[in-house]
Amino acid sequence: LIAFLLYLFYLVAPIGQLVEGAVQLQNGLAALKRIREIEDLPGEPDTPVTEQRGEPVGVSFESVVFQYGEDRETVHKDVTFEVPPGGLTALVGPSGAGKSTVFALLERFYDHQGGTITVGGREIRDWPLGDLRAALGYVEQDAPVLAGTLRENLLFAAQDSSEEELWRAIRRTRLDDLVSRLPEGLETAVGHRGVLLSGGERQRVAIARALLRKPRLLLLDEATSQLDAVNELRLREVIAEVAAETTVLVIAHRLSTVTNADRIVVMEAGEVRAVGTHDELVGADELYRELAATQFLVS
Ligand code: ATP
Repeated sequence: LIAFLLYLFYLVAPIGQLVEGAVQLQNGLAALKRIREIEDLPGEPDTPVTEQRGEPVGVSFESVVFQYGEDRETVHKDVTFEVPPGGLTALVGPSGAGKSTVFALLERFYDHQGGTITVGGREIRDWPLGDLRAALGYVEQDAPVLAGTLRENLLFAAQDSSEEELWRAIRRTRLDDLVSRLPEGLETAVGHRGVLLSGGERQRVAIARALLRKPRLLLLDEATSQLDAVNELRLREVIAEVAAETTVLVIAHRLSTVTNADRIVVMEAGEVRAVGTHDELVGADELYRELAATQFLVS
């Protein structure tokens, strides 16, 4: 029987490797596509980081007009909203409303064609690009875990962090439980060659990674994947804690994030149709009420 089981194992093991290989290939192709997209952007001057990191910055969009190309339709027709420094602001709206485009413009992956965007009271085009990007932290939807140890994953963009800063970020993102559970703690290999992390853990690793860069504005594209109740609660606590220290602008896909937000910007078809708190919007905006009824998981 043992010989038979061994035989079966040898039969099945290569299939597992094949599947893993296919997943890696797919991840690689997605990464390559993103690199191509970035390479295709208009040339950027090589701008060093000259400004010290510092206080949280606010953002304002005033009658912003934007299209991805001359032959493309206008994505932002008239986008106006204000984010004061500090606190939590959520962007919500149906798929295609233009929420991710707000992030792309703030990162200056593209330039808006009309209206004004300011970051920290300064017109976005007047920021040296290096300073602007150093001031922003960006957590993408379903952020990847890189091959390597958990420590390498966290310090990826902030190699010079002290041990104290690293542990502070770990505690703030409620990752201490995970670290104590892993066989070799921070030195445990994670990702496809190591321990696989859950969706909630991956997202908190990505937030910790961004926090270590001490952003003055954190852009967070919340993952749409379902979280269990514990992970959902943790994420809500983490976002609230981070928003007490810096400005957080989140593309929200879950109700628990927006009910806690200081303000919610409701976007639809390239315009802002309402701004308010959850309670205000439930009373005042029909689209918001509908989105709330579907838990925002609409995209
Ligand atoms: P979702 O919730 O589905 O991500 P969204 O509100 O974030 O939607 P955007 O991603 O900002 O919306 O997209 C708005 C419009 O811009 C869509 O019609 C989309 O197809 C288009 N668009 C987004 N990114 C690009 C791009 N890089 N090039 C061309 N068009 C784009």
